[in-house]
Amino acid sequence: MVTNDVVRYYHGLMKATVIAIGSELLGVQRLDTNSLRLTAVLDRFGVELIAKSVVGDNEEALVAELRRRAADSELVLVTGGLGPTADDVTRPATAAAFDRGMQIDEGLVDHMRQLFQSFGREMPEVNRRQAEVLDGATVLKNRRGTAPGQRLEAGDCTIFLFPGVPRELEAMIPDHLEPWLDSHAQNVGHGLETGVVKIACLAESAVEERIAPAYERFGRENISVLASPGDVKVYFSARGTEAKRRAELDEMRRVLGELAGDAVYTDRDDDVLETVVGRLATDAGKTITTAESCTGGLVAERLTRVPGSSAYYLGGIVSYTNELKMQLLGVPESYFVDHGAVSEPVARAMAQGVRSRYGSDYGIGITGVAGPGGGSEAKPVGTVHMAVAGPGDDDVEHRKVRFPGGRDRVRKQASQLVLDLLRRDLVRRS
Ligand code: AMP
Ligand code: MG
Repeated sequence: MVTNDVVRYYHGLMKATVIAIGSELLGVQRLDTNSLRLTAVLDRFGVELIAKSVVGDNEEALVAELRRRAADSELVLVTGGLGPTADDVTRPATAAAFDRGMQIDEGLVDHMRQLFQSFGREMPEVNRRQAEVLDGATVLKNRRGTAPGQRLEAGDCTIFLFPGVPRELEAMIPDHLEPWLDSHAQNVGHGLETGVVKIACLAESAVEERIAPAYERFGRENISVLASPGDVKVYFSARGTEAKRRAELDEMRRVLGELAGDAVYTDRDDDVLETVVGRLATDAGKTITTAESCTGGLVAERLTRVPGSSAYYLGGIVSYTNELKMQLLGVPESYFVDHGAVSEPVARAMAQGVRSRYGSDYGIGITGVAGPGGGSEAKPVGTVHMAVAGPGDDDVEHRKVRFPGGRDRVRKQASQLVLDLLRRDLVRRS
């Protein structure tokens, strides 16, 4: 006991737990994402998350969990189970766990009735349950749904009940949780903040090698590398007062950026490669067309996922057969005879063909063997030729790569590399 108190005092951190409620979260269909959202907020306020749990829609189990968590933390954040149906047990379970009564708040019932009316519907009687307020609890208005949240004190612990619908929780955070943390988490000086640099088309091990000096300088525990095909994200974090951690993050961002070099495509968390390409193309006033074979339109899909892409993306061709590569892009028939469909000349001709026929500054061409069939000794599965035809008539950049992995992975990596080639060209000319 004494040891615990000393440790707690030394760190000065408020201890919190998160409980996500819903039987669907115990199955394989739905992931508990609310706790991640809440954890990000706790991090920012320097509150330490000591445990999180997922509990099914079971009143007895929830009563036990609530008691246990309230005993070992000062803040318990509960999401879910505030709906109107019988399987929503958060209110009665909380009442039972902390020996509270519950009353229906008629003012809340009226408010919900009006909400339903504004959608042109009668409020079903079962919804009255959502107006049950625990004795001594503060009602937390939900501006995106009918189920209000509640906050109550039980001993030394504060318990928040939040709706489970992620969109609704999203609004409860700035409305109710952050203001409370602002005045109660005395340890704002321990806030944790995270930055990122994103790197395209370098192997995780190559990234590790480049950034190794940063581990020494900033501490290995403050830097973590997350890799997916063709994309490596380096996250780094700093603790302390806002001014201190911001300064530290800026320095980490600068150093990591220098170490990783021109493979870094962004240091913004919400950027993906196609948003960066879009920004660069917009700034340069350049347009793009695509001619895809093995990626089947994936590059086009990624480019058009970005809002406003019509400013620079003219369109694309999915030319899967040799015939369509000839008809729509003007690839000479002899190339297929002499080199095969998966070859450098064909990729180049696709990029140049789509660019000149459809009048863009840049043309992209991709042809490859995505697998699982179709490979040969000379052109094994994963072999992809890609070309980016640039604004000058003769400047076509070509790459031949053999990507590891199955069909999906090969296609993903090919789209990533070709977008990165385009990005690099745009950067070079900017
Ligand atoms: P509830 O408030 O429990 O009725 O949940 C309403 C909806 O939000 C359901 O579709 C749930 O699957 C979803 N939901 C509930 N809890 C979570 C959670 N922790 N993470 C993500 N979605 C959730
Ligand atoms: Mg539920």
